[in-house]
Amino acid sequence: MFFFEENSWLAGVFIIFFRFFLIAGLAYFVFYVWLKNKFSHLKIQGKSPSTNQIKKEIYYSILTLLFYSGTSGLVLYWYKIGITKIYFDINEYGIVYLIASVFIMILFHDTYFYWTHKLMHSNKWLYRFHKIHHSSQNPTPWAAFSFHPAEAFISLGIIPLIIFVIPTHPIALIIFLIIMTIYNVVIHLGYEIFSKKSIFHNISKWKNTTRDHDLHHEIGGRFNYGLYFSIWDRMMGTYLEKRTKV
Ligand SMILES: [Zn+2]
Ligand SMILES: [Zn+2]
Repeated sequence: MFFFEENSWLAGVFIIFFRFFLIAGLAYFVFYVWLKNKFSHLKIQGKSPSTNQIKKEIYYSILTLLFYSGTSGLVLYWYKIGITKIYFDINEYGIVYLIASVFIMILFHDTYFYWTHKLMHSNKWLYRFHKIHHSSQNPTPWAAFSFHPAEAFISLGIIPLIIFVIPTHPIALIIFLIIMTIYNVVIHLGYEIFSKKSIFHNISKWKNTTRDHDLHHEIGGRFNYGLYFSIWDRMMGTYLEKRTKV
């Protein structure tokens, strides 16, 4: 299989960077450049983020992507020594499982993200690393992977958790990684896209919305630790809703 051939590593690095710069770049171009005035009423925090903040977000996101790229060879190694649950024949588990496995990965990741994120806020030593991400009080799409390398390492923990526990087809893993990148960019967008008038509003009840995560950044991280959903936050009493007019 191509993805697991030796010379595919460079292709993997390219995909990691391309995925982020395409998704974050498109979101930034549409909301912060092209249609900035049209969407100005949806900006969650009125002020514009500083150029210095955006430069810092891009710098740390590139560092994170370099780290992700550098460690992607480990997955190849783990697969080769036969300790993962990666499989290639779709018929082995069926197409329904293939689709379901993407949702299982998202639920796993949401749980992993909530608890590691909460830990980074409650542990002073770990917060020293996480505060790099919180230097964006008014985040933009470029903040999606703006992490200290130590936080990048923690965030990467979801990959072994998935491939060692869940039967994983590479296609499902790739779809999951694309959804993860899109959703990470969405919650750092800085614009209210889940407003009452929005087509996304009805699906937003249990979701961690852009407004929820933006508030997490604005108030220094005391509430709203989730990634895709607000379920863990609601269960653990760490959910705080920001009232908006739109
Ligand atoms: Zn964030
Ligand atoms: Zn945080």
